[in-house]
Amino acid sequence: MTKNIAVIRGDGIGPEIVNEAIKVLDAVAKKFGHTFHYTDLLMGGCSIDANGEPLTDETIAACKASDAVLMGSIGGNTTTSPWYKLPAHLRPEAGLLKLRKSLGLFANLRPSVLYPELRGACPLREDISEKGFDMLIMRELTGGLYFGDRKTEPVDGVMTAIDTLKYDENEIRRIAVKAFEVAMKRNKKVTSVDKANVLDTSRLWRKIVTEVAADYPEVTLEHALVDSTAMQLVRNPSQFDVMVTENMFGDILSDEAAMVTGSLGMLPSASLNETKFGLYEPSGGSAPDIAGKNIANPIAAILSGAMMLRYSFDMNEEADAVENAVKKVLAEGFATGDIMRDGCKQVLCDEMGSLIAERV
Ligand code: NAD
Repeated sequence: MTKNIAVIRGDGIGPEIVNEAIKVLDAVAKKFGHTFHYTDLLMGGCSIDANGEPLTDETIAACKASDAVLMGSIGGNTTTSPWYKLPAHLRPEAGLLKLRKSLGLFANLRPSVLYPELRGACPLREDISEKGFDMLIMRELTGGLYFGDRKTEPVDGVMTAIDTLKYDENEIRRIAVKAFEVAMKRNKKVTSVDKANVLDTSRLWRKIVTEVAADYPEVTLEHALVDSTAMQLVRNPSQFDVMVTENMFGDILSDEAAMVTGSLGMLPSASLNETKFGLYEPSGGSAPDIAGKNIANPIAAILSGAMMLRYSFDMNEEADAVENAVKKVLAEGFATGDIMRDGCKQVLCDEMGSLIAERV
């Protein structure tokens, strides 16, 4: 198969970790007989420096013309970087928000996996962490409270702020479909998270998700309230497979799920639209504190590449090969500085990429 991949290396550690992701994708191409063409594009701080804006129309068009986008991370030190002296719409993050919007990316997928070798980094009690967990949080990304009308004004002489939480049935249906499709590629369980005991949007959410479930009889559906889910995430995270939820609940729960793994440099993410198209990037940021030193952990970027293979290219065997190579390297005791433990051999960013590529 031939695929065209738009590559946004971005700022900070972005270029270093994306280089390693490409090294691993090239190993996949060689082993499985595929051809990947890469188109380098600028976004974020590097685009501000080159073009005076964080995202150009040409970059958006080039992304749309590709099969998927592989991204590093964007942004710099928010206190010292001159990029943050610019008006908000010209700062690095404005580029990413505009890109997500232009590409219609409404479903954000963040897997949280606790690898046996990294249990020591898990902040949960040992009897919980020893069970391990492998869940994926799917967050609605373009609706809800963050995009509803808002205003702050005096009402009867009292300053009052209003944010509007709105979802229509089509917005809910398309993300529910994505969640069930992803569950079919995993352990066939969906937990839909809402606050249906209070909110109308949640009651509609629950109704539509239940309707969609009828088309996926192999998948088990359960509904859960968001407050109880926040507790279950630290009490018994191994019960979850795919969790689907609206924008704000997903924002909070996905950070909680990332935190309980204890290792940010390991976590990939994907943002999808209604087609197979997606943008794949590490969950972490540009880590300006360690940029340019070849010490960042490239595994989140490499696993983002694996998600691209699985969800945009339907290359499940190839994605398994990458994920298994990562597990193997961890089991053999190699570690970058952020996941270093006693008895392990510390390696640099590019060495980690090569070790994983060799094991594909
Ligand atoms: P960060 O995720 O960049 O860093 C937090 C901590 O985690 C730092 O100590 C960093 O060294 C470490 N870390 C992160 N990724 C790592 C990796 N792969 N290997 C080893 N250590 C790693 O968060 P921050 O410091 O709050 O933000 C820095 C910049 O990144 C800001 O400009 C922020 O806006 C931006 N950011 C971008 C994205 C994105 O591109 N999607 C996401 C989050 C933050």
